[in-house]
Amino acid sequence: MTAPVRPARVAGPLRVGVDIGGSKVAVLVVAADGAVLARRSVAAVSSEPDDAIAQITGVIRDAVAEAGATMAEVEAVGLGVPGRVDTASGDVTFAVNLGWQHLPLGRRLATSLGVPCVVENDVRAAAVGLHRDAQFRGPDDLVYLGIGTGISAGVVLDGRLHRGVRGLAGEIGHVVLDPDGSACACGLRGCFETIAGGAGIARAARTAIDAGEATSLAGGDGTGRDRASDGPSAADVFAAAETGDLLARRLVDTAAAAIARMIHELVLAYDVELVVIGGGISRAGAPLLDRILAGLKRIAAPSAFAAELLSETDVRLAGPDHDIGTRGAIALLDPVAKEVVAREAMV
Ligand SMILES: [Zn+2]
Repeated sequence: MTAPVRPARVAGPLRVGVDIGGSKVAVLVVAADGAVLARRSVAAVSSEPDDAIAQITGVIRDAVAEAGATMAEVEAVGLGVPGRVDTASGDVTFAVNLGWQHLPLGRRLATSLGVPCVVENDVRAAAVGLHRDAQFRGPDDLVYLGIGTGISAGVVLDGRLHRGVRGLAGEIGHVVLDPDGSACACGLRGCFETIAGGAGIARAARTAIDAGEATSLAGGDGTGRDRASDGPSAADVFAAAETGDLLARRLVDTAAAAIARMIHELVLAYDVELVVIGGGISRAGAPLLDRILAGLKRIAAPSAFAAELLSETDVRLAGPDHDIGTRGAIALLDPVAKEVVAREAMV
């Protein structure tokens, strides 16, 4: 590894953003002016709390060292976690994909690192980050649609993150689109994420293969992964759709149509100016966005009202190299965001 190059002058206290995902933990260290000083990531975090705290502490310390700094120069750490978070205490109540329950993440990391740690649900943190992002113009009313293994939305209204009374505003992955559809982990059937989430797409492909449908997804993929036992991933399905595989195209078209319908419903519910789609699905890139935009056109075609609403809504994909999760975690540390957290703690 090359020696870190210490910036000539660090413009004030540093901030650290941590994006904890099911498959990796990403860390970004920025100066007070937002300049990136270091990036680090490690593979999947442990489901065992003590190991997880040690891993996260380690990667944060490594990233700060890479920035040529010490923890004493860090003002605060923001963390986005895929799960239910008590933002007043920084406790992760439930993170099903990480295997965590009632983990006092914020307090344990603050003790271990010696700096304040602010914790928020990852998708909601990303929405806060977008609001402050020059690239996305940061309008006061926006939705961030996080589509990975599951789906949820972060909603910023009138410049403030909308959490709702239970902190569950935006859990649209469990809106039922097909009451007779596939079983969802939540107990219902045909939820949005069973149709457009990564796990749902992969499961639908596997079901079709098991039913004998002809598809290139049933064969070897050259990666050494045994599709016969593992089944194709959602990424495999998106890739196969671009090569003309009929099953893959049907699944991707169905997912894109469902995403378009949900965007229309989000715009109707919240009257937002910007919808940004991120998460693992955003790696599918322009072909996916084209399908979603085509779906929005189909929705708008018979309705002047829908056409007006959707023509005035900016729908974009967040590129995978945008640091959307870590920048969102850092945005939690802004005075405005801290003020919101403090206000909620008093209620
Ligand atoms: Zn569900």
